[in-house]
Amino acid sequence: MKTYRIATIPGDGIGKEVVPAGQQVLSALASTTDAFAFEFENFDWGGDYYRKHGVMMPDNGLDAIRDKDAILFGSAGDPDIPDHITLWGLRLKICQGFDQYANVRPTRILPGIDAPLKRCAPEDLNWVIVRENSEGEYAGVGGRVHQGHPIEAATDVSMMTRAGVERIMRFAFRLAQSRPRKLLTVITKSNAQRHAMVMWDEIAVQVSKEFPDVKWDKELVDASTARMINRPASLDTIVATNLHADILSDLAAALAGSLGIAPTGNIDPERRFPSMFEPIHGSAFDIMGKGLANPVGTFWSVVMLLEHLGEFDAAKRVMQAVEAVTADTSLHTRDLGGQATTAEVTAAVCALLGEPAAAAARAA
Ligand code: NAD
Ligand code: MN
Repeated sequence: MKTYRIATIPGDGIGKEVVPAGQQVLSALASTTDAFAFEFENFDWGGDYYRKHGVMMPDNGLDAIRDKDAILFGSAGDPDIPDHITLWGLRLKICQGFDQYANVRPTRILPGIDAPLKRCAPEDLNWVIVRENSEGEYAGVGGRVHQGHPIEAATDVSMMTRAGVERIMRFAFRLAQSRPRKLLTVITKSNAQRHAMVMWDEIAVQVSKEFPDVKWDKELVDASTARMINRPASLDTIVATNLHADILSDLAAALAGSLGIAPTGNIDPERRFPSMFEPIHGSAFDIMGKGLANPVGTFWSVVMLLEHLGEFDAAKRVMQAVEAVTADTSLHTRDLGGQATTAEVTAAVCALLGEPAAAAARAA
């Protein structure tokens, strides 16, 4: 029997509610099979750790998780600590430290979800957004001088490298090729940003020659927001820069019904380091600690984690259980217009997976 070693990092806010829920689902799954087991190790990094130690995670923290098979992450973000400290001190430290350069964000309208686009059939919206996850606008290059003085100046420099753009473009073409429609949209802003984004366009043309069976087109990022709403079925796989894809994927999540449903994987395609799976939402200060968080985004992230481990049948079983639960509106959390709690949704998914304990409880 294979034992997968999983690091869980709940982080802050509702991350502390949804990551244990995700772990429960993985445990329920493992209890129904002899094929694999999980060995979890939890890390209490985040805002509370910062209050005690002055850092979001230990300096040598990456070494503690380097040998894991995967990481399940919640959220970094604390009401009392500036966001750039929490984000750079934890999530980006892991993404960059493990060179997880491909951020993959699938979006679909799950059964039972009342999505806001009224002229869009559920099957019209089936996208995967590939976000460049290691450089670009979030490279961290820049500086600030003369703070507080009238001559104060600040820069955030977007940095693109040929190596960085080529590898994300190749990843996106390969992903598009693996999907039934073999359709890729390359998103840019190469009219206004005339250096790096023009290089991005040129590299797209070059890499496309390696994938003659993939149809592809180009769209400017502003126009693509309108296209997502007006012609959702014209899109399938999408590749965009760190900033552009960050914004587009929140829009995509909202169009699919809720930010609480959307998953993501921060992937090291070369598998030199563990990849990290997380819901795309943040700490949700307005609902944290109340048991109202929708755990579906985390469960879908667990599905991506299982796929990354090569456990495709198990991934399919979890996704089917999640879809059966979303199809039942009495199991919708408040973000979907329902009244179910995080714990109720989690128990329902575990029960559908046939967890022996849940089955015994039902029989009793
Ligand atoms: P957010 O995603 O935390 O919340 C936005 C809105 O969506 C809120 O109204 C929230 O209640 C709702 N929401 C989000 N997830 C939900 C869920 N699972 N169930 C139900 N409702 C949900 O975004 P924000 O308010 O911009 O950010 C709050 C904090 O989280 C900030 O500190 C930010 O930096 C951080 N953040 C972290 C990450 C990350 O670690 N990956 C991502 C985004 C935001
Ligand atoms: Mn984001």
